[in-house]
Amino acid sequence: MADLPGIVIMGASGRMGQMLAQTVLQSDKARLVGCVERPGHPWIGRDMGEAMGSAPLGLCLTDDAIAAIARAQAVIDFTTPEATVATATLTAQARAVHVIGTTGFGPDHLQRIKAAARHAVIVRAGNMSLGVNLLVQLTRKVAAALDADFDIEVVEAHHRHKVDAPSGTALMLGQAAAEGRGVALSEMSERGRDGITGERARGAIGFSAIRGGDIVGEHDVIFAGMGERIVLRHVATDRAIFARGALRAALWGQDRKPGEYDMLDVLGL
Ligand code: NAP
Repeated sequence: MADLPGIVIMGASGRMGQMLAQTVLQSDKARLVGCVERPGHPWIGRDMGEAMGSAPLGLCLTDDAIAAIARAQAVIDFTTPEATVATATLTAQARAVHVIGTTGFGPDHLQRIKAAARHAVIVRAGNMSLGVNLLVQLTRKVAAALDADFDIEVVEAHHRHKVDAPSGTALMLGQAAAEGRGVALSEMSERGRDGITGERARGAIGFSAIRGGDIVGEHDVIFAGMGERIVLRHVATDRAIFARGALRAALWGQDRKPGEYDMLDVLGL
């Protein structure tokens, strides 16, 4: 047991944090060695099991990320862009695998993650599920097969608490569509239409976001032509799919060379 990779979970009280803790606890391939929350969080000092409403685990939540990461072979991080960038410096120093599920990064954040990946294995994906990563590959293929007579629209739906839009997954799908077409997403992306927008630009890749209730995550990639429409769809009904993917990434990352990887690498797609 002691030689199983030790996992630390950042943002352990969050929706994904709790799901990740349960997934690691149920696994016979890894052990949970730390649960971290931001300083001042009401769960700090509480037993993680009790805080989640189950039996005590003998593992208390801490705000001491440095000490927790020093004990870990991998850190799984579904938090905020600022918190993740700060953690990337610590995982690079500790040479721990850093699995990043956080979304909503800006160019500065991505630059800092890239710098950390010179020293540590970083696996970052806007969606850690097998199904969505297959959808990414399908999107790339369909986009390559169809020309700009087919308008590409990415439509996503998430729960009311989500703070960023388009979702990280929608951006992954848009990126795959752009790569399939051989264009730069930054030049073709069309976000948020309102008012007199004018006609749709040929070749644009459109994004729309729905927010409501407890929707776990739904993504459609629509290829709309004249007289026909192809719709590729993924519907997530359980956050466990992301947690299982993240744990798989943490185990896959052991003994890899430093660098930035994604779930396509982990899944061999
Ligand atoms: P959430 O419930 O708000 O959880 C985020 C957690 O991170 C909160 O507990 C938050 O604490 C904590 N946190 C914030 N700053 C921190 C810090 N400095 N140190 C430690 N913990 C900190 O959100 P969620 O629904 O779990 O989603 C988290 C992220 O994962 C989002 O970016 C979401 O888009 C992404 N996500 C990715 C995937 C994927 O497959 N890649 C799937 C689902 C979600 P406070 O509440 O105190 O701020």
